[in-house]
Amino acid sequence: MIPAQFDYAAPSTLDEALSLLAQNEDAKILAGGHSLIPAMKLRLAQPPLLVDIGRIKDLSYVREENGQIRIGAMTTHYQIESSDLLKKICPLLPECAGAIGDVQVRNKGTIGGSVAHSDPAGDWPAAIIALSAELIATNKNGERSIKADDFFIDLLTTALEPGEILREIRINKSNGRTGQAYAKMHHPASGFAVVGVAANLTLDGNGACQEAGIGITGVSAKAYRAAAVESALNGKKLDDRTIASAAANAASGVDLNGDLFASADYRRHLAEVYTKRAITAAASRAR
Ligand SMILES: Cc1cc2nc3c(=O)[nH]c(=O)nc-3n(C[C@H](O)[C@H](O)[C@H](O)COP(=O)(O)OP(=O)(O)OC[C@H]3O[C@@H](n4cnc5c(N)ncnc54)[C@H](O)[C@@H]3O)c2cc1C
Repeated sequence: MIPAQFDYAAPSTLDEALSLLAQNEDAKILAGGHSLIPAMKLRLAQPPLLVDIGRIKDLSYVREENGQIRIGAMTTHYQIESSDLLKKICPLLPECAGAIGDVQVRNKGTIGGSVAHSDPAGDWPAAIIALSAELIATNKNGERSIKADDFFIDLLTTALEPGEILREIRINKSNGRTGQAYAKMHHPASGFAVVGVAANLTLDGNGACQEAGIGITGVSAKAYRAAAVESALNGKKLDDRTIASAAANAASGVDLNGDLFASADYRRHLAEVYTKRAITAAASRAR
């Protein structure tokens, strides 16, 4: 439980952090440390240098800009959970944040760290996909934007390149009658998602589903968009029958995880049940 030796740097600007990363190929970024430090203690990660981005002031914020919600990568789960702005304009985010771990974890863990880590049982990736967020990565040469659908590549693997820092998460503000919800089965020991389903629904003037965003975590090696569920909802009135038959597709075409706590078959069942719950709650909240 003792990590291998490493150097530590705590830059106060993004430029400084990017230079350190450019000069040290094997360096690792330290955000809240709630995943990286345990991995180092188990010697699953042995970075020679930690670049702590916790002292860079302008990486922690929630704001509305140009019709978008913008969230700095170092914003903690608790800051999102307690944001009055988000409760009003994107309640899925505070709801998802409130479902993460416990108070200590939410006070220290960051949205950027969680998304960059791509834990198969992490909560944020489901919401990020359901909201079709844009992830802004930066390195010494500039910035690029990565769509949520292209960001999560595999188990603990994202589209971020060595030397890149995830700087910001952008979400288009929804217009019209929108309803959102996050439904999660917590692992009783860790609090992580055995299954977590994020639903982001927009209804048209007649109350039919105009656009559905459904992101699912915990079920497979990485979070995914439940495209078959979305297309079974689009254009339809969201009555119980439509929701149930759409939710039956929650794990279709997905390679399911199985472990001591939940077999692959049980996870398939949970994915369907929690997808139904998330859609039902989101539909009832659409205003
Ligand atoms: C007891 C416990 C319970 C938890 N329960 C839950 C839960 O229920 N649900 C859940 O989703 N999570 C849970 N977590 C995880 C926690 O919420 C953190 O979000 C997660 O550990 C990663 O965030 P972090 O800020 O701690 O990142 P770190 O651990 O500092 O970093 C994680 C990885 O991301 C990289 N990284 C960090 N920030 C950036 C960045 N801006 N750009 C590029 N790379 C970056 C790091 O180099 C590292 O590889 C739990 C953790 C603990 C310890």
